Amino acid sequence: MAERIAEEKIDQIRQAVDIVEVISDYVQLKKQGRNYFGLCPFHGESTPSFSVSTDKQIFHCFGCGAGGNVFSFLMELEGMSFQEAAIKLASKVNIDLEINLPSAVSGKKVSAELQSMLDAHELLRKFYHHLLVNTKEGQHALEYLLGRGFTRESIDKFQIGYSLNSWDFVCKFLTKRDFAPEWMEKAGLMIKRERDGTYFDRFRDRIMFPIFDRHGNTIAFSGRSLGAEEPKYLNSPETAIFNKSKILYNYHLAKPSIKKAQHAVLFEGFADCIAAERSGVENGIATMGTSLTDEHIALLRQSVQSVTICYDSDKAGIEAAYRAGNHLHDAGFQIKVAMMPDGQDPDDYIKKNGPDKFRNEVIGASLTWMAFKFLYFRRGKNLQNEGDRLAYIEVIIKEISRLDKAVERDHYLRQLSAEFSLSLDALKQQQQQIFFAEKRKSTGKNEPFQKPLVIPKPVKELKPKHYQAERCLIAHMLKNRDVAYKVQELLAGNTFNIDEHQAIITYLLGFYEDHLEPDSSAFLTYIQDDNLRRMVANIEMMAINDEISNQELTDYIKQVLNYQKLLKIKEKEVELKEAERQSDFGKAAAIGDEINQLRKLL
Ligand SMILES: [Zn+2]
Repeated sequence: MAERIAEEKIDQIRQAVDIVEVISDYVQLKKQGRNYFGLCPFHGESTPSFSVSTDKQIFHCFGCGAGGNVFSFLMELEGMSFQEAAIKLASKVNIDLEINLPSAVSGKKVSAELQSMLDAHELLRKFYHHLLVNTKEGQHALEYLLGRGFTRESIDKFQIGYSLNSWDFVCKFLTKRDFAPEWMEKAGLMIKRERDGTYFDRFRDRIMFPIFDRHGNTIAFSGRSLGAEEPKYLNSPETAIFNKSKILYNYHLAKPSIKKAQHAVLFEGFADCIAAERSGVENGIATMGTSLTDEHIALLRQSVQSVTICYDSDKAGIEAAYRAGNHLHDAGFQIKVAMMPDGQDPDDYIKKNGPDKFRNEVIGASLTWMAFKFLYFRRGKNLQNEGDRLAYIEVIIKEISRLDKAVERDHYLRQLSAEFSLSLDALKQQQQQIFFAEKRKSTGKNEPFQKPLVIPKPVKELKPKHYQAERCLIAHMLKNRDVAYKVQELLAGNTFNIDEHQAIITYLLGFYEDHLEPDSSAFLTYIQDDNLRRMVANIEMMAINDEISNQELTDYIKQVLNYQKLLKIKEKEVELKEAERQSDFGKAAAIGDEINQLRKLL
């Protein structure tokens, strides 16, 4: 366990770090007025409701309510502790924390076992690469790669290596360096023999492709056989550090290019990704032999909203592209699909046609998502045959119905009408019928693909006056220490009606006891409660005037205090009705007087 980080160091970090810069590593932010906006990394959305304030150094999402300062951002997004977030930020701005750090992966504390798995992968990655490029033992493997179109640059860039043709080289290599064999077995590097409990190497005589996580740590390998050996690709098993459904190959290297191009190219396998990189496609990433998961999409969303899918053009590849496209489309991505001649994969294509053709005629000539679907639904149909043709037209009209924009629907209906010489009006009519039929079917049911990562809270119910007044007062109290004390004075021992609001001002007055100036970000660290922190971030984002007049102040306080009186009046009104019902007119008159007195106080 690391020592505690000194308070002044935390302040120093907070002052040195820019929240916009930190969040930009995860979210594409656009400046709008004083604040920055982007798509929330905490919930699925397609219009930006996530905002970041440079002045206040805080963030807030109007969609799901997430909010806080730079520390809580990392804590929530990366699952870090406060300490871990502070370590990560300190290293970003070169602040020496003067404490003994635990061994860390990009600021995240890991157990000795995980650290040892990572260290072993790191060591082997370097060793395998050295064997391939510098030794006689690896020479045949290097020649094999060069013969297949790999360049020395890409071999270095992707840290490709070679594992010796030996049953126990890695076992000896690692145990000699004090790596526990049980842990190395769990890491997928060694395999235990049932009969005598001894270990042997998982990878033998294979070209080794290291798999990196998003931070660039080596977490697994894929070993390709050099000859007819099966399987052609032998992958590390899923381990505590390698989870296929979370890993996008090449993400750590491609991220800057992806951000720059505002676009990513998604491949089905890492070999395609490496081949494409040789053709100058530097924003390529690949899944590791799984279909695209929600986790992959969440990771992608951190840097991009637009993706070209470039899968094999065989039957399985086209089906997979269709599934991935739907998944991305429903997550709000702009999609294109790159097509190659039948049955080819990107690696084959580049070998046959060269890198320029791949870049220009495959990636550069990608189809829109809808155009891809036109082709997708056409496969296996004979459009000369009336039955097939009608079935095709119907399914396409259904797809057109799902388009949001009227212009787009019109465009594709025209295309359909032209191709099959059909009346545009008739197509439009049919499209509308299908639209309403689908709508009826889907009401009451969940949309099939919509799976937000966090269920957003329902937003914007109309709040009563006193609620709004309390928020405005808090907003001004956060901005100005004197106003905070004035509000306390005007409340004269009364409290806010909303418990959370009262808790916030109690914290705030405590904060002002040892902070002479307001500091939004520091205050968010001071608050211990997540829920309150989110509320404060939300209030901080309210648009309010710089100053508050005494008149406004007393008006707000009045609204706060009136609420209690209004409740009392309501109570009395019920009593009055009851008295009237019982024909107790004396009592009714007395209650009526009381109500009048209370009303005068409002
Ligand atoms: Zn959100």
